Formats: sequence, structure tokens, C-alpha cells
Amino acid sequence: MTDTPPCGTPTDGGSSAPSEHPAPERLYQLLVESIQDYAIFALDRTGRVVTWSAGAARLKGYARTEIIGRHFSVFYPPEDVAAGKPERELEEAVRTGRVEDQGWRVRKDGTRFWASVVITALYDEMGTLVGFAKVTRDLTLQRNETEALRESEARFRLLVESVRDYAIFLLDPEGHVATWNAGAERIKGYHAEEIIGRHFSVFYPAERVAERFPQYELEVAAREGRFEDEGWRIRKDGSRFWANVVITALRNSTGELVGFAKVTRDLTERRAAEEQARRLAAEQAARSEAERRGAELQLLSEQLEEQAIELEHQREEAQTLSEELEQANDQLQRALVEANDARRSAEAEAARAAEASRAKSDFLATMSHELRTPLNAIAGYTQLIDMGLRGPVTSAQHEDLERILRSQTHLTSLINEVLSYARLESGAITYAVRPTPVTAAAENAEAIVEPQRAAKEIDLDVQLPHGEGAPPIQVLADQDKLQQILINLLSNAVKFTPKGGRIVLELLTEPERPGMALIRVSDTGIGIPADKLQAIFEPFVQVGRSLNSPGEGTGLGLAISRELARGMGGDLTVESREGRGSVFTLTLPLAV
Ligand code: ADP
Repeated sequence: MTDTPPCGTPTDGGSSAPSEHPAPERLYQLLVESIQDYAIFALDRTGRVVTWSAGAARLKGYARTEIIGRHFSVFYPPEDVAAGKPERELEEAVRTGRVEDQGWRVRKDGTRFWASVVITALYDEMGTLVGFAKVTRDLTLQRNETEALRESEARFRLLVESVRDYAIFLLDPEGHVATWNAGAERIKGYHAEEIIGRHFSVFYPAERVAERFPQYELEVAAREGRFEDEGWRIRKDGSRFWANVVITALRNSTGELVGFAKVTRDLTERRAAEEQARRLAAEQAARSEAERRGAELQLLSEQLEEQAIELEHQREEAQTLSEELEQANDQLQRALVEANDARRSAEAEAARAAEASRAKSDFLATMSHELRTPLNAIAGYTQLIDMGLRGPVTSAQHEDLERILRSQTHLTSLINEVLSYARLESGAITYAVRPTPVTAAAENAEAIVEPQRAAKEIDLDVQLPHGEGAPPIQVLADQDKLQQILINLLSNAVKFTPKGGRIVLELLTEPERPGMALIRVSDTGIGIPADKLQAIFEPFVQVGRSLNSPGEGTGLGLAISRELARGMGGDLTVESREGRGSVFTLTLPLAV
């Protein structure tokens, strides 16, 4: 080891003679050679490279042949070289035996890396400086990590310091304030220099301090890692604020407690806002409830009012109704009284009428009888004289006697008809209705008008269908009444038909009037004015006859005839044309 430093022998790739047990120096050389992560090489006393290792080649980029003999200052950045740093380091190594440095170094390709360098001065046994051993390590990666950590810490500190809404600070394990941020200053009112080093119990109200609550918080945080609390805290000026506090225990990698992080928030405003909100909500709820109640009450009162109005209406209606009922009742009562009165007076009237009618009938019957007796006497004595039983009768006297007899006859028939009509009116007539052949009544009537017909040379044609073997048509009638009607119709026809005229009496049926027989009396006489066609059926109506011109007839014949026809379930109608003649139709039910 005289001229050769321990690791100074140029390595030639192990070309020395192999041996099963190489010498320790050789082993040492191999060791240095093989280390990849460190550049380990030797410099001579002037700083020139004399050995090179695989690690050095890898780290710095130079091959052995390129670097051996060159000054080690090539590994330094130009500014360091210019500042004489390489020489200074060697001098220091000579002076102190060893120099350590961290700094930028330069690779062959010009790139830099952060290096940890140890330079050791090498001496021989005589104490003569023979050179330097240099061990270089690339710390770039490590440095980067450290730098990143440092930066992130700086950023974090900056961040924490600039946070204004939270007081974020560190306590040492005993609870003394170690750091302070803007938020802490803002919330608690202390400047950093005023508070750092003081115990954090200054932030607590006296009673809590007395309870040792701050210590309790730290104990819990230390035990459980974290403690959170909300409560009153004190500012520097003594005022209170409502705070949310989180205390976190900080431990190092070995688990040793190094302090606490404390984050405090001022919740005074939030609490006030919350209370305000709560109060508002409560007020709102109370108001809503009151309004709801009010509305309910309002509704209820409206309903009550409506019901009251309704009841009032109903009461009024009931009142009105009862008044109306009363009125109606009164009216009914009155009407009932009136009706009773009316009924009574009607009954009385009817009784009176019946009485009067009966009296009239009685009177007429008596009168007729009383009149007929002297009339019969008149007729008898007139005929006696006319027959010359009381002495000779001149022709003039004879004519007079005839006039007396005619008047007597007329008066008798007049009285008979008046009597007959009176009995009809009073309902005293009874009908003996039975199937009756028209033939007999027609023949009797024909016989009765025969003298007048013959005198006026009127042609009378009676057409009653009676075919051989065929039974004669029968009607439901009272034979005497039927005969009385036919006499009236035929005598009128003769009376109102001029000389030489023609009368037809026929019996027929018509399909449109089933169940009825039609007995028709037609004449070619003077006819009846249209406006008198109904009047002639009224009693005492005679066309063209005034009270000053009394003549034949009573004006009762047609009135009686129609009453009789209707009394037997039939009718009597007329059709006529003035100057041409008239047609009277008597209908009666057919007897089947
Ligand atoms: P009277 O024949 O006794 O006057 P009626 O009641 O029988 O009473 O007749 C009433 C009137 O009807 C007659 O006065 C006459 O004017 C009219 N009259 C009745 N029958 C005929 C007839 N066949 N032709 C024209 N006029 C008639």
C-alpha cells in the first residue's frame, strides 16, 4: 500500500491471476467495483481521477478511459468551478480529513443531479497525503421528495395561515399554543406574538377552566384521537362566542404524542341565525296555527251565521206558510160556508123550482081540465044548433056556427099542447118504450092530416119498406109519442106546402148511423130561413108570425116533438131551403 491507495488501483476487469482465495485487497477492489448505487473513486493529490468504478460510470456517464487522468472539477457546475469550490473542498478534506457536501453535480451529458459527496483525504503510513477517496451518491430522487414535502408543507402552512373562517392552530402536548393563523386572530382577537406559548385555557370561560375542562378535552383527544365540542369560548376582549371545536391528537411515526391540532369555528352567527330561524319557524307555525284556527273559527262563525240565516229563513217561511195556511184555512172556511150556503140555497132553489114546476103543472092540468069542459059544452051546443034542433038555421048562421066550431077545435088543441109541454118540462112524462113498427103510427098520422091534404090537393107518398115475407122495421119507441111526432111533422108539411105540392114520408137506415132508424118527412113547401132553423125548435117560435096576426098553430109542436124524440134516445133535425121545401128527420134507435 505504498503508492497504491486502497481503491486506487485501476481496474482492468479482473485480469489478475485467479485464485481460490483472492487476497483481501483484491476482494476489497471487487466490492468497490460492484457497488452500483455509489460512485466510488480515487483522486490523486491534485484532484485528478485515478480509479473508476461501475457505480461511478453509471452515475456520471463517463467510461473509465474517458475520465481517468482528468480533474474531478468536471463533475461540478461551471459556477461552482468558477467559485473554486472543488479546490476548496480538497483543501478542507486535507485540513479536517474529511469533507461532506450536498450540491448539484454535472453528468457527462451536461445534466445535473443532486449529489451527496464525501471526500476523504488518504495518507500513507508515513502520514504523507497520497490522494483522496470520493464517494458520491445521487440524491436527486430523495431531494425531489424532500423538496415536494417542503413545498407542500409550505403551501399547507400558507393555506392554514390564510384561512380566516377557522381558527387553526397547534398546541404542544401540554396545551400551549404553538402556531396561530389569520382565522384564529380574527376569531379570538389575539395576535400571534401575544398568544404563542400561552396555555389554550385562556380561550375558556372561568367556570370551565375551574372544571379543568380544557385538560379533559386534551385527555380525550389524546386517548381517542379526536374531540369535538360546541360551547362558549372567550375572546381576548372578554366577549363570548359560540364555538365548534375539534381537537386532533398529533403523533409522530413512532406513535409519540407531539401535540394537538385545534380547529375552532365561530358559530355565534350561525347559532343566532339558527335561533332566529327556529324562532321565526315557531312564530310562523304559531301564526299559521292561529290563522288556521282563525280561519276555522271564521268558517264556523260563517256557517253558524248561514245556519242562523237559514233558520231565520225557515222560521220566516214557516211563519209565512203558517200565515198562508191560516189564510187558506180562512178562505177554505169561508168557501165551505159559502159552498154550504150555496148548496143550501141551491137546494132551496131546486126545491122552490120543483115546487113551482109542480105548482105550474098542477095549475096547467087544472086549467086545461077547467078549460076543456066549457069548450066541450061550446062544441056540443054549437053542433046542436047547427043540426036545427033549436029551430031553423039560415045559411049565414050555418057558416057562423062552423067558425065557432073551428075556433073551439083550435082552442082545444092549443090547450092540449100547452098541457103536454108543461108536463114534458116538469119531467112528469113517462115513456112506454118498446119495439114498435113505424107503420101503425104513420098510418094513423096520415089519416089525421088527410082532410087538410085532400083540400090542398097535395100528393102524400108514404114509403115504408115492407117486402113480402120481410118483417117490418121496428124502432124502440113509445107508440103514442111516435104518433104524436109524426102527426106534428105531417100537419106542418101540409100547412106550409102550397096547393098541389108533394110530401114524402119514408123510413130508412144509413150505414154511417148504425143502429138508428131515420124517419124522414120532406115537402116542397115554403121552406125555412137559414137563421131560423134552430129557433123553430124553441117553444112558441113561429116564422113570419107576429102577435098581430094570429093564425093556426101554437109554436109548441116542434119543441114538444124534439123533447119526445130525445126522451126516447133519438133526435129531431131539419134541413131546409127557403122557397124549395124542408126535410125533417126523426131518428130513433132500431129495435134489433
Ligand atoms: P105551429 O106549427 O103550431 O106553428 P110548430 O112548432 O109545429 O108550431 O112549428 C113552428 C114553426 O116552424 C111554424 O110556425 C113554421 O113557421 C115553421 N115550420 C114548421 N114546419 C114547417 C114546414 N114543413 N115548412 C115550413 N115551415 C115550417
